[in-house]
Amino acid sequence: MGAESPKEECGLFGVWAPGEDVARLTYLGLFAQQHRGQESAGIAVSDGQNILVYKDLGLVSQVFNEATLTTLHGDLAIGHTRYSTTGSTTWDNAQPVFKTDGERSVALGHNGNLVNTRELAERVGRSGGATTDTDLVTTLLAREMASNGLEDSAMQLLPTLEGAFCFVLMDERSVYAARDPHGVRPLSIGRLPNGFCVASETCALDIVGATIVRDVEPGELVRIDDRGLRSSRFAEAPRRAHCIFEFVYLARPDTRLSGVSVHEARREMGRLLAREHPTEADMVIAVPSTANSAAQGYAEESGTPYGEGLVKNNYVGRTFIQPSQSLRDRGVKLKLNPLPDSVRGKRLVVVDDSIVRGTTTRQTVQTLREAGAAQIHVRITCPPIKWPCFYGIDMSTRQELVASDLTVEEIRAFICADSLGYLSLEGLVAATGAPKEEFCRACFDGEYPIPVPDSAGKFVLEDRLKLPSS
Ligand code: SF4
Repeated sequence: MGAESPKEECGLFGVWAPGEDVARLTYLGLFAQQHRGQESAGIAVSDGQNILVYKDLGLVSQVFNEATLTTLHGDLAIGHTRYSTTGSTTWDNAQPVFKTDGERSVALGHNGNLVNTRELAERVGRSGGATTDTDLVTTLLAREMASNGLEDSAMQLLPTLEGAFCFVLMDERSVYAARDPHGVRPLSIGRLPNGFCVASETCALDIVGATIVRDVEPGELVRIDDRGLRSSRFAEAPRRAHCIFEFVYLARPDTRLSGVSVHEARREMGRLLAREHPTEADMVIAVPSTANSAAQGYAEESGTPYGEGLVKNNYVGRTFIQPSQSLRDRGVKLKLNPLPDSVRGKRLVVVDDSIVRGTTTRQTVQTLREAGAAQIHVRITCPPIKWPCFYGIDMSTRQELVASDLTVEEIRAFICADSLGYLSLEGLVAATGAPKEEFCRACFDGEYPIPVPDSAGKFVLEDRLKLPSS
């Protein structure tokens, strides 16, 4: 994963469990989902009377400490880790978003990206002061809930939203979770000894000791409180369009998506990649860590030994102080460092999850060559990314995508590899074990399951409202 990689979007967690330390459970749930967003983190907690929100820019472990967590008491909480797919990186845009009219309050966290933001902005009006689609949604909910309560307000608002969305939201007494009718982003429910929790990824349910109950269904609103877990359907699910890129890159390997182990799916991607693009080599290595499972699969299928050739520093967050250009020129590498003794003189198969702009892959190839690798055969666990994503992954223009106008051979030349092979879309779908029709694959095949307005793009809202960006 490099600076140019598609950015993860957001991680959500929600819990209703009286008697438990819900703030600490939420902290752990967010910590497990740090990979989904490293710009900001926040927790909202309620004791049944008041909602308290604490959020800031930075990693979960930078935002929260013992002292802050100790002040967050209650029976229910929601939390959020953010990467900004819309709007700018400012404290105001950190989530959960909180709105109150003095009587009733709502806190909300969002994972995804709405495509009818313009229409929502018109409904809110210029006085709203929002720079994100999440803020627009929370403002509209807060307006309605004074007369209708949060559940009814959500049931009215959710069917009018278009795009990809998973929400966790809360009032003073209940936690809610909602998933868009196509189910683009994942959201799962877990059971605790005295309550329930929800999370974007099941690895966050595991870390708090919850048993996985099921996914939140596309088009479903779930409410959790002292009456248990209740379900309402706010829209029919026309067709499923789970983001297939979650399997490739976004989700942690110990997560299960629609019941399928991400690690196993990635291993199968590696096996199929070995069948589709075999080559003579001495060692298979992964670009750590997303591609580790696939590299193992490639090694198994090809009979070529698996080894370590690159070491990754996992602790470089977005707030990390970057080295100056002169240090970079001297070869200071923040994230990936080669193991020269391991790769010297070897013909390497280098398995990576994806190529976006191509510059990071080129650097990786160069690093391995400088470390003495004899040949470098790059294998990618998905097809070329040719189309932008409008559903929450930060690949928002075609110009950013090297495969949008270069052939595979031209990309091979650009990254200076000896050979380059991408897994086919058929192979990728087969590795998940689910039918093609259940997935959004738009960044690969340009077939967008949810219509995208021409104007949709990362800063459309700021352009329209003429808000300062930072
Ligand atoms: S366009 Fe690609 S990244 Fe975006 S939701 Fe669809 S499959 Fe996922």
